Amino acid sequence: MTTVFAKKVLLASGWEDDVRLSVRDGRIAAIETAADASAEDIEVGFVIPGLCNAHSHAFQRALAGHTEQRSPAGRDNFWTWRERMYALAGSVDADALTAIARQVYSEMLTSGYTTVAEFHYLHRDPLNPDDVDTMFAAISKAASESGIRLTYVPVHYERAGFDKPLPDKHQRSFAQTIDEFLAHHARALASAGPTTKVGIGAHSLRAVSAESLQTIARIAESGPTPMHLHIAEQQAEVDQCLAAYGRRPVEWLLENFELRGNWCLVHATHINSEEIAALAATNAVVALCPSTEANLGDGLFPLHEYLKQDGRIAIGSDSHVSINPFEELRWLEYGQRLVTQTRNVASLRDSHVGSELFLRALDGGAAACGQANGRIEVGAAADFVVLSDEDPMFTGHDDDTRLDALVFSGFPLPVERVMVNGRWCVVDATHVQRDTARKAYAEAVARIGATA
Ligand SMILES: [Zn+2]
Repeated sequence: MTTVFAKKVLLASGWEDDVRLSVRDGRIAAIETAADASAEDIEVGFVIPGLCNAHSHAFQRALAGHTEQRSPAGRDNFWTWRERMYALAGSVDADALTAIARQVYSEMLTSGYTTVAEFHYLHRDPLNPDDVDTMFAAISKAASESGIRLTYVPVHYERAGFDKPLPDKHQRSFAQTIDEFLAHHARALASAGPTTKVGIGAHSLRAVSAESLQTIARIAESGPTPMHLHIAEQQAEVDQCLAAYGRRPVEWLLENFELRGNWCLVHATHINSEEIAALAATNAVVALCPSTEANLGDGLFPLHEYLKQDGRIAIGSDSHVSINPFEELRWLEYGQRLVTQTRNVASLRDSHVGSELFLRALDGGAAACGQANGRIEVGAAADFVVLSDEDPMFTGHDDDTRLDALVFSGFPLPVERVMVNGRWCVVDATHVQRDTARKAYAEAVARIGATA
């Protein structure tokens, strides 16, 4: 039994003072409010639930900062970035993936994410391409060693485009037949445990046939299992989908599938008013990744219109150009302010934008990851983020504005400790295996030449 005494805890009902949290077997066994600290308690400042990182490609951490120089042709966009990403993908073997993922998961924990949905299509280890389980094992090992809660989302990838039924040469390390993919998914399911859940996914409408998508969706439905796919990230994908299916991507998806709360649509950047209304009316979650969407020049999701209709959102760090959930929330709002020339755009249920975005991301993130977390309550997973109450970020703030300070101050994060499933992963603002993870990461990047 671990007991934590906090000056303030953000419970489902709001902030409470002087709270003792008792943790047993990875779960919250008891919550006492207006309590007194006792000698055995770990005394901390503010405690909030951990956020789910709803969209991650761990291997892309090694590419961050390496694609920011203008090419001679001067036409840099998502598709030219993708060529660089393919070059990296082709060089990452299972040992390198373990090291890169452990580093990025350690960084996620240090910044306040406690769960990650790993959207994994890098199925073939270049050193052992016939075994499509070793790369998953690398992800699983990295999650377990870092301590982060994992939703493993094996992702099907089978073709180069709507009119290209086979993968191109860069995509062969991703590609499987649908039968190979389903067999991999079934084997991965056996790994599920207290901190690992297995979802299922399709890369995108362009990379997976309609028939295969139906098969995958049926498996997701039977779970229910988190069901993820990229959609409408780029205008070119919208144009190709219109040409192939006669419908826009989200429009086509809604016509052909019954979307429920286990569906997670990643990006959904290019959607029109009809699609926004129809999508918001389902219980599906849209995973927004503002720092990556900005970095890749994707476009801007119509957040205000979507939230007005009570659409659900989660956040993700995607390519890991930023690993800071509060920065993702800040840029969700800032993108809207910049284009509308107004302020406090995302504030629809709560007059405080920071708390509203945080609470929406907690709810949507837990749904996207299919994990029972995101709330501090008896019986829930013991996943906490401890914030320093002495950090100047919070000076002069109260229960109404504390989360606004966290989202909008933008100073170094005041994350002191992080617990996942009852285990402290971050202590004194440092991941407990930080130095080991950094050393292995540096060695892996040097060995595979990830920056070339
Ligand atoms: Zn992605």
